[in-house]
This record gives sequence, C-alpha cells and structure tokens, in this order.
Amino acid sequence: MEKIDMLIIGAGVVGLAITAELTSKFEDSTIVLLEKHDSFGRETSSRNSEVIHSGIYYPVGSLKAKLCVEGKKLLYDFCNRRKVPYSRIGKLIVAKNEQEAKQLETLFELGRENGVTDLEILDRKQVTLMEPNVKAEAAIFSPSTGIIDSHVLMERLESIAKQNFALLAYEHEVKEIHRSNNGYVVVYRMPNGDEDRLECRIVVNCAGLNSDTIAAMAGIDIDSAGYRIFLCKGEYFSVNDSKSNMVSHLIYPVPHANLEGLGIHVTKSLDGRIRLGPNAFYVDKPDYDVNRGHAEIFFNSAREFLPFLELNDLEADMSGIRPKIQGPGDPVKDFVIRHEADRGLPGFINLVGIESPGLTSSLSIAKMVADMIKHDDIV
Ligand SMILES: Cc1cc2nc3c(=O)[nH]c(=O)nc-3n(C[C@H](O)[C@H](O)[C@H](O)COP(=O)(O)OP(=O)(O)OC[C@H]3O[C@@H](n4cnc5c(N)ncnc54)[C@H](O)[C@@H]3O)c2cc1C
Repeated sequence: MEKIDMLIIGAGVVGLAITAELTSKFEDSTIVLLEKHDSFGRETSSRNSEVIHSGIYYPVGSLKAKLCVEGKKLLYDFCNRRKVPYSRIGKLIVAKNEQEAKQLETLFELGRENGVTDLEILDRKQVTLMEPNVKAEAAIFSPSTGIIDSHVLMERLESIAKQNFALLAYEHEVKEIHRSNNGYVVVYRMPNGDEDRLECRIVVNCAGLNSDTIAAMAGIDIDSAGYRIFLCKGEYFSVNDSKSNMVSHLIYPVPHANLEGLGIHVTKSLDGRIRLGPNAFYVDKPDYDVNRGHAEIFFNSAREFLPFLELNDLEADMSGIRPKIQGPGDPVKDFVIRHEADRGLPGFINLVGIESPGLTSSLSIAKMVADMIKHDDIV
C-alpha cells in the first residue's frame, strides 16, 4: 500500500488553497489531493456570486469574520501577484425605508468591530450621486468589496500545488476511512471503477457538500458534533444586457437577521453583466435547475431598489448549493475548521459548513489549516 504524508479530500477552492499552502510549507512531504470529479471546482466553488466580501455581516469573534477580513487582503494580494482577474468594484447595502436605515447603523458598527474600517454611511442624495438609477433611503458603501474570476483563481492554486509536486488525482472518490497505527487508511474509487487504498498521517477533509459524510467515515457522530450538512440552494436570474450599465456597484439589501442568505442582491460579473440572486431555500438533494416560476419573486424584491427593472428583463441563469450546518430555523452557525485530536483522531482536520464567505476566506483558511499541522506530526 502506498504511504504518503498528507491527503486532502476535495478540489474546490478551499482544498486547492490548502494543497498549495501545505506544499509550500512542507516542501519535503508527499501530498495528494483526491477529487471525485474530472477537474477542480465542479461544485460550490464555481456556483457562487464570485464576490470578495469585506467581512461586515458575521458575528464578532467568529471564524467567518476573522477569516473573511484576513482572506480579503490575502486574496487581493494574490490576485495582483498571480494575475487573477478581479475588480474592486465596491458595494452598497441599501435601506428601503427609515427602519432599514436604522439597521444600517447596527451593520456599520458590526463591520467596524470586525475590522472593516473603510465603510461609509450615505444619505439618499449621496446614493443618488453614486448610483442614479438605484432607489434608497440610505446606504452603507463598502469600497473594499470586489469581484473575482474564481476559475482563474483555482487554476493558479492548482498550478502552484503541481509545481510544488503535489499529486492531484481527479476522478478519485473517497469511499472509506480507517484508523491505522500510522494514521489513516483511505479507500478510494479510481476512474476505471476499481478501488485502491493509501495510508497517510494527515487527512484534511474539504469535501464541501459531502464533508459530513467524510467526517462520518472517520467515525465521528455528525449529529452530536453538529456537522450534519443541510443543503441550502440559491438561484440566480440574469438581467437583460441592455440594463447592464444601469448600476456600477454591487447592490445588496439589508440582510435577514438569521443570515440564511444575504437577500436577493445585484452582482456584476467582470464582463459587466448584471445578475440577481441568490435566493435561499433548503432542498433534500443537490440539483442545479433554476425554477423559472421564481422570476416574479426576484423581480418583486429587486425592483424595490431597482425601479428600472421589468419582469421580462429576467432570465433563469444558474444556481449553487450552500453546505450549511445551520438547519432551517437555526441561528447562524460558524465555519467548523477543527483538528480532531480530542476525538481520538490525531492528524484529522475537518472543514465543515464552509459556505459564504468561503471563497473570500480560502487563502486565510489554508493558512489556518497549515498552522494546525506541525512538522513533528508527519515524521
Ligand atoms: C449561491 C452561493 C453564493 C456564494 N457566494 C459567495 C461569494 O460571493 N463570496 C464568497 O466568498 N463565497 C461565496 N459562496 C461560498 C463559496 O462558494 C464556498 O464557501 C466555497 O466555494 C467552498 O469551497 P469548498 O472547496 O469548501 O467546496 P466545494 O467547491 O464544494 O469543493 C468540495 C469538493 O469536494 C469534492 N468531494 C466531495 N466528496 C468527495 C469524495 N468523497 N471524494 C473526493 N472528492 C469529493 C467535490 O466534488 C468538490 O469538488 C457562495 C456559495 C453559494 C452556494
């Protein structure tokens, strides 16, 4: 049986960032990444808003707040060094009425406590100057929010990992994990359908929507650990190209208290097109169809701040699925990024519930995981 030092499960943006970071930190280690699809980023990492979030919304002291604020800086720096297309386009969180304008003050304060120090509160006139076609009583302006080409980001991370001699095995699906004297024996299915196994000291589970299944394979009771994943779907509708120039920033409503989603918002892609979304509703099984019947709901919520919209401007676009550990009706939950030594699993690191802002936080998550592994763990 092949013996290696570290195994990463899942080639989304998080698994790729971790592989790139570990191969840079542990140059002499043997590192393998197993991914069940035939290339990277085939699930949540390529089905999202591609927004580099500033870090406003998350509870103070949470991993989401800390890793988003750190990750944003790391990501802009990485984009500059590695030529990943991005635009620091800026975002407005718009209040429809006086009551929402008061909520903006709370959000502003939350952002400040999370270390987002560049926010500004704008009154109606200032919003109109910035976005003449947007209707709002007031807004928060976040200049450090941006958009990124997440595919190129993943390409760059993959190429760093490969240059540093990681082995990336696509079409390799992890099926079983067993404890061994030297770490873990991982059984996986190969492209020809046969199974093989390898032994490793360190396992990093970044399997996104299946991260609870992988944790369970290692023997963790996912319900008592709070690791069960609830699938929360988000659909997008594109807006007719003739309206693309009507807004120049990302435009978000004031979020719901439980942060199930951030509310149907306006995103711009790097080529200037605008999209509405995502909504948020729980589903039993992953499926990426967009229900055209939802167009009216999108239209009704967006036209409150985009009065120029017409229903026939909207066309069903794409969808993604959030890997939430926050079930329906639950309070907000934080990312789980945990070395499971105290559960009798030394060297086993779980990443569970890596929903938004997981793309923004990918590089800071990778640093956090690398800090959990000591050179002594692999010799
Ligand atoms: C609608 C939506 C909008 C979002 N918008 C934003 C945003 O604007 N900004 C932001 O920062 N974040 C956003 N996010 C969150 C962000 O997309 C995720 O946090 C991030 O992509 C998670 O990456 P990941 O690598 O953990 O998971 P994934 O991309 O899901 O990767 C997990 C990988 O594991 C693989 N895998 C699973 N099981 C196995 C197995 N048994 N064996 C081998 N491989 C396996 C899968 O095939 C997959 O490739 C959004 C998410 C959604 C759903």
